[in-house]
Amino acid sequence: MTEESQEPTIAAIATPPGPGGIGVIRISGSLAHALLASIFYPKNKKDLRSHQLTYGLIKDPESGAMLDEVLAVYMRAPKTYTREDVVEIHCHGSYLVLESVLALLLKQGAQLAAPGEFTKRAFLNGRIDLTRAEAVMELLDANTIARVDMARNQLGGGLHDTILAIRHQLMTCKGIIEVAIDFPDEDVEIIDPQAMSKQISQGVLAPLATLITAADKGRLYRDGISVVILGRPNVGKSSLLNSLLREERAIVTSVPGTTRDTIEEMLTIRGVPVHIVDTAGIREHAGAVEEIGIERARAKLDEADLVLFLLDATSGITPEDEELRKALPAKPVLYVVNKIDIVDDYKEADFSGKIADMPLVSISAKEGRGIDTLEQAVYDLVTGGEDWDPGHDVVPNIRHRSALEKAREAATRVLEGIEITLPPDLIAVELQATLDHLGDIIGETTTEDVLDMIFQQFCLGK
Ligand code: GDP
Repeated sequence: MTEESQEPTIAAIATPPGPGGIGVIRISGSLAHALLASIFYPKNKKDLRSHQLTYGLIKDPESGAMLDEVLAVYMRAPKTYTREDVVEIHCHGSYLVLESVLALLLKQGAQLAAPGEFTKRAFLNGRIDLTRAEAVMELLDANTIARVDMARNQLGGGLHDTILAIRHQLMTCKGIIEVAIDFPDEDVEIIDPQAMSKQISQGVLAPLATLITAADKGRLYRDGISVVILGRPNVGKSSLLNSLLREERAIVTSVPGTTRDTIEEMLTIRGVPVHIVDTAGIREHAGAVEEIGIERARAKLDEADLVLFLLDATSGITPEDEELRKALPAKPVLYVVNKIDIVDDYKEADFSGKIADMPLVSISAKEGRGIDTLEQAVYDLVTGGEDWDPGHDVVPNIRHRSALEKAREAATRVLEGIEITLPPDLIAVELQATLDHLGDIIGETTTEDVLDMIFQQFCLGK
C-alpha cells in the first residue's frame, strides 16, 4: 500500500494491556480507510459510512484466517482526533487478539505509532494547542479527583484562553510601538506612556502573577506531600494509619515495636495526594531488626513535609516522648493525642500546655474520632489555611510556570522601558520576548526538542 502524503499512517493498541470487555486499535493517516478495507469484512456488504460503527470480521486477506469479530469505525478527516482519517477497530479485549490484528495492520503497511503520536498529530494539525495536548496526558495520569478537575479545565481551553487574552494585550501595545518606530519624527506622541504602563501592569503582569500563584498551589495537588507518623511503640501509629485509610491494611497488634519497618500508603486529604509513612518506634535499646526500621524512619523524616507526632492520652507526655521529640527534624509538626476514648476526664489543655505553640489535635484512632479534625489540620498546615479549589482555577504545570516566569521578567522590562522612555525599538524587543515565552506555553513558538520531550512522556496509543 502506498502513502499519498508525507506522514506515514500510524497504528497502535489504544487500550491498556490486560483482559477487558473490548480493546481498541487506533489508526491515523491517509491510508487508514484502505488499511481497514484490506482486512475488514463487514457483515452487510455496504460501504463504510464515516463516523458509524460497522459490524464485521477481521481476516488475514492472504490466509483467510479469521482474527476477531469486531466493530469498526472509519472517521473521515477533518472531524477526527488527529484531523487525519482515523479508524478505530473495537476488538475483544484480549491482548493477544489485539496484537495479532495490529501485526496484520503493520504487515499491510501501517507504521507502529510512537508514544503520544496521535495526540502530537492533533497538535501539529492544529486541532488542539499544546496546553490541551498536555491536558490529555495529565488526565490519563491523574490519580486524584483534583488532578482530573485541573486536567479537565485545561482540556477545555482554560489556560489557552487566558494566555491568548494576555497575548492580545501585548499585541495591541506592540502595534502602537511599531507605529512609533515607523514614524519617529511625528510631532504627536504616539505612545501614551501612562496608558501603556497601565495596560502592561493590569493586562499582563497581574494575570501572569495570578497564573504563577496558581501553578505553585497546583503543585501541591499534583505532587502531593509526604507525611511521617512518628511516636513511641504502642501509641497507635498503625491504628491511625488504618483510620486514615479507613481500611485495615497495616497489622495492628498490642506488642510494642512490631511495626519493624516502615509502612507506606497513598491517600488524599481534601484533594491533596498524601504519601503517608508509618515508622517503627525509635527506641534507645532497640533490637537489630528495629535498628533498620529506625534508620529508615530517619531517612523518611528527612524527606517528610510534615510529621504527625503521636502521643498517648492514657500516659501523658513520657520521658520517652521527650527523647523522641529531640530527634525531630526542623519540619512542621502536628501533635496528635490518641486514645482519648479511654481517658475519662480528658483535657486537651494538659497536653497543649506542654508543647508550647505547636498545633495539636485529639483523636481516637480506634473509634475514628477526631480524624476529620486531624485531616483538616493537616490540610491547613500544608496550604497555609487557604481554601482553594483546584478545579475552578486555571492551574499551569511546571513547564508553563517556567515560561510564565520568563514572560513576567520580560514584561517587567517592558514596563521599565516605558517608564524611562527607552527608544521604541528596544521596548519592542522585550514585548516580542514576552509574546514568545507565552507562545511556548500554547505551542506556537515551542522548539522541536521540547515538543519531543512532552510527547515522549505519553504512553503508546495515545
Ligand atoms: P503502634 O505501635 O504505635 O503502631 O500502635 P498500634 O496502632 O499497633 O496500637 C497499639 C495498641 O493500642 C493496640 O492494641 C491498639 O488497638 C491500641 N489503640 C490504638 N489506638 C487506640 C485508640 O484510639 N483507643 C484505644 N482504646 N486503643 C487504641
